[in-house]
Amino acid sequence: MKWLFFFLVALFISCEQKGAHKSLADLLASGQWVDLTYEFSDNTIYWPTAESFRFDTAFEGVAPAGFYYSAYNFCAAEHGGTHLDAPVHFAKGKWSTDQVPLANLTGNAVVIDVSEKALRDADYQITPADIEEWEKRNGEIPGGAILFFRTGYGAFYPDAKKYLGTDERGADAVAKLHFPSIHPEAAEWLVKNRKVKAVGVDIASVDYGQSSDFKTHQVLYAQNISGFENVANLDKLPVKGAYIIALPMKIKNGSGGPLRIIAWLPE
Ligand SMILES: [Zn+2]
Repeated sequence: MKWLFFFLVALFISCEQKGAHKSLADLLASGQWVDLTYEFSDNTIYWPTAESFRFDTAFEGVAPAGFYYSAYNFCAAEHGGTHLDAPVHFAKGKWSTDQVPLANLTGNAVVIDVSEKALRDADYQITPADIEEWEKRNGEIPGGAILFFRTGYGAFYPDAKKYLGTDERGADAVAKLHFPSIHPEAAEWLVKNRKVKAVGVDIASVDYGQSSDFKTHQVLYAQNISGFENVANLDKLPVKGAYIIALPMKIKNGSGGPLRIIAWLPE
């Protein structure tokens, strides 16, 4: 009988190895993609002092040779709509847009929902206690995670008055910004206690609207942790289990850039 036992063990191991060799296509055969990106258009939300998205027609119609043809020019600030903040945006010498490694733009998502508090208070700042409370229920944030905070303000996009607190533009509008985001103490806590690759928010900035020193940006980016801002559809992600692919336009020496970010939800 002993041989039978060893035979079964050997069979089990070979099956296990076959499982390990599943191709990426096999893994992606059941599940679905979720687009976490807003389209770029006249409605795209930009910081009050940043240039908005411009989309000009170079040609649209039937060309003299008889075929249909269209081509456009676009122009925009790096920081608007769904976009990457490269660490160099607030930390000299850290990664620029083209330098952020692909390994840091892909990984397992963790979603901390603070919408109940944030929707009650547009100046809400996410605290270390919010993170610890999430961990009590869901376990420690794993190393290498891409961490999202869901404020619930994504539901207001692209209504600037509700989303940013003001729809005014220009330097004077900055003081009128009211939206929730991450308290610098929470950023300090993360940097000290956990190892995340990037932090994403469903709002225009990783600092709250009333911030004037952008301390959360400074703390995270000094550790080469990137920011993803104006991330769409966070309400469609589970608290964990989604896989993120976030690919910015590869701007050499850029401080950020338009970001196509998607999530894979396994079955
Ligand atoms: Zn930004």
